[in-house]
Amino acid sequence: MTPVAPPSPFLSASAVKDAARRHGFDACGLAEAGPVSPGRQADVARWLAEGRCGAMDYLRRHAGLRADPCRVVPGARTVVSLALNYYPECHPEAFDFAYYAYGRDYHDVVRVRLRALLAELAEGAGMPPETLGRGFCDTGPVDERYWAVVAGLGWWGRNAQLIIPGCGSYFFLAELIVTLPADVYDRPVANGCGACRACLTACPTGALSPDAGLDARRCLSYLTIENRGPLPPGTAAAMGRCLYGCDRCQQACPHNRRAVPTRVADFRPSSDFLAMTPQAWACLTPDDYRRLFRGSAVKRAKYEGLRRNIDALLGDGDARC
Ligand code: SF4
Ligand code: SF4
Repeated sequence: MTPVAPPSPFLSASAVKDAARRHGFDACGLAEAGPVSPGRQADVARWLAEGRCGAMDYLRRHAGLRADPCRVVPGARTVVSLALNYYPECHPEAFDFAYYAYGRDYHDVVRVRLRALLAELAEGAGMPPETLGRGFCDTGPVDERYWAVVAGLGWWGRNAQLIIPGCGSYFFLAELIVTLPADVYDRPVANGCGACRACLTACPTGALSPDAGLDARRCLSYLTIENRGPLPPGTAAAMGRCLYGCDRCQQACPHNRRAVPTRVADFRPSSDFLAMTPQAWACLTPDDYRRLFRGSAVKRAKYEGLRRNIDALLGDGDARC
């Protein structure tokens, strides 16, 4: 009798989605791994050539890797795109912070879930996790939003965010890039922006252009977090109440009206953070900063960056220490 070759292993898309749900992810889709589309590559090349990435030189350096997940994970066959809701239930009163930064650093929180999901899928496939693939959450050269679109999670909004139908855009994106093919791949969903321009109108700096291009050099999320130098002239006025980052183009989006609060306790703000007054911000010391933001993504701006933002918001007013 001729021996029958064992079936080549593959991922069951429905089993992957079930597992993703069990590990707390709110959305999951699968895309076939391969080079990103020529149109996307051309858009990225133009965006970089125009200098719209600001001082984020790593985007330029890693452009080749970002253009093909198979260069990041050799032998990659599938990109499992995942999303985790971070929409907060309550907000600080004194100043605005980007919602995603209220709680524990999302890199750490999502990494734990990604590892557990990868381990479960690897066990099912009978291979070590490191052979099956790798997980990323804003931690590697992966074009996350592009893959979320290809994997059918949502569409690329004019505010340069991924919009998940019926859920909105307050989601962290993450991926598993794996070396097994899937039985079924997802398809992109229709773009639901229509004639809406609410995000463009809401942006206080004109950082968004109608073709979904974001100019990081004008965006408060970049200027108040990534940017290490002084704030460009006019930034303080545009900040309004925004002390760290900016969510105005997301707040304006009608698809976020149905956002529901996150179920992840780690993303909730501490009572100390919520209780901060303008006076407390004005007098924030490096020790206060370390205590308040231990394990938080706000550490990215460093004390000096946050101090610069506080001083910009307070101006020469009486609230300064
Ligand atoms: S985050 Fe703020 S500054 Fe940046 S594009 Fe959105 S609204 Fe404009
Ligand atoms: S505000 Fe309107 S145009 Fe902007 S992303 Fe949302 S739906 Fe699209």
